Amino acid sequence: MAVRREEEMPEESPATLKEILYARELRANCQRRLLAEFGRPLISFTLNITGGRKAFPLAERTFREGKRLIARELERAGIPVAVYREDCGRTGYAGFYAVDAGAERVKRLTAAIEESGPLGRLFDIDVLRRDGTKVSREDIGLPERTCLICGKPALLCSRSAAHPVEEVVRKTQEIMRSCFQEQYAGRVAQSAVRAMLYEVAVTPKPGLVDREGNGAHRDMDIFTFFDSISALAPCFRRFVQEGLDFRGEPRKLLASCRYSGLLAEDAMFRATGGVNTHKGLIFSLGVLCAAMGYLHGNGLPEDMDAVLEACSEIAAPARGELEKAPKGPPTHGEKAYSECGFSGARGEAAKGFPHVKSIALPLLRSLRKAGLSPNDAGVAVLLHLISRVDDTNAVSRSGLATYRAVQSEVQKCLSETSEPKELLNLARGLNEKFISLNISPGGCADLLAVTFFLSFLFPGPQ
Ligand SMILES: [Zn+2]
Repeated sequence: MAVRREEEMPEESPATLKEILYARELRANCQRRLLAEFGRPLISFTLNITGGRKAFPLAERTFREGKRLIARELERAGIPVAVYREDCGRTGYAGFYAVDAGAERVKRLTAAIEESGPLGRLFDIDVLRRDGTKVSREDIGLPERTCLICGKPALLCSRSAAHPVEEVVRKTQEIMRSCFQEQYAGRVAQSAVRAMLYEVAVTPKPGLVDREGNGAHRDMDIFTFFDSISALAPCFRRFVQEGLDFRGEPRKLLASCRYSGLLAEDAMFRATGGVNTHKGLIFSLGVLCAAMGYLHGNGLPEDMDAVLEACSEIAAPARGELEKAPKGPPTHGEKAYSECGFSGARGEAAKGFPHVKSIALPLLRSLRKAGLSPNDAGVAVLLHLISRVDDTNAVSRSGLATYRAVQSEVQKCLSETSEPKELLNLARGLNEKFISLNISPGGCADLLAVTFFLSFLFPGPQ
């Protein structure tokens, strides 16, 4: 598949030197006009981009991010913007703000944005006094800005053309790309953590750890889950990053995520003192995070169907492994597969999470839209999953016949009522039963977490 990355698709051809000089002149005129017309200090925001190619998607995004930060700082400081003008085109992006505040004070705020992180180094935020003179960094006691490449004063390097243009351009794009990728990975990983917290908080859950008890478990409680979730937070970023960096066939991505998966399991076991709280979910959410990263990093469509399809391709090799005889002691999933043909977390992921897509997510969305709390909607979704999914965790603990009997009982109850209060009572009653039968539908709980995860990232039609 030929994939072109976002930043490699120039929207505009490079501007010529003549055009750049002309644009500079126009912007200076614009500044003079605004100063004369409004009689207020002026912020002039542009990007530090070397070379003729100044307008491209990543640069536009950087400019938007800068505008967002400037607006936020001005608002926080209670400084009104009397007028805003923008000039964007082949020669780059520029924004001008006439503001109601002392120029030095404004310069302090904007310099803090420039200093705030890697992207800030690409912002050029000048502040002009009413008389048109510039407030320098020196005026407010700050050192000169430094070169992106060598760290010496930036002005020296640019005046002496110390570095080849291509090198500076490459470094600039690298800063933009890694900054936005980090933002993206953070956003996806945050949804994974949030989904795990929601799942464990949903109460009552038959046989499972929730806010009222430990279900059929004796070796873990809700705090064990909090310990595990906190330890896993950075791991999900890594799965997204694996996907972002990966070029090639998605089915080969699983192999490069394997080590991140082992690190995540290790982090979980260390945090819980050896208790398996999330092994299945590390796989399911890990594959989802890698799929999101893969689509984003390769500039592919990122709708939910595309994510689930990528999941099924990425997880396909794991399903193949189930069919081979396990090398070491079998996992819950391997035992359930060899005894009942259940393919568990690996099978669900390899099929693109069909139960989540066709049952759980539509139900969660409609119950939330009808005004149910995440808790009550979560309980209903979990019951529907228990009634339909072949849960490898539950079967490995209780045996197939017991599990099938419980499933048909849940199915019967669900066919009789959809009243939220009655479903909560049903779940509470089932909890007693599951504890006595030693059933813990951990696979369904994982799918509930996957459902929450997708609902956060794809809220669906409003
Ligand atoms: Zn330098």
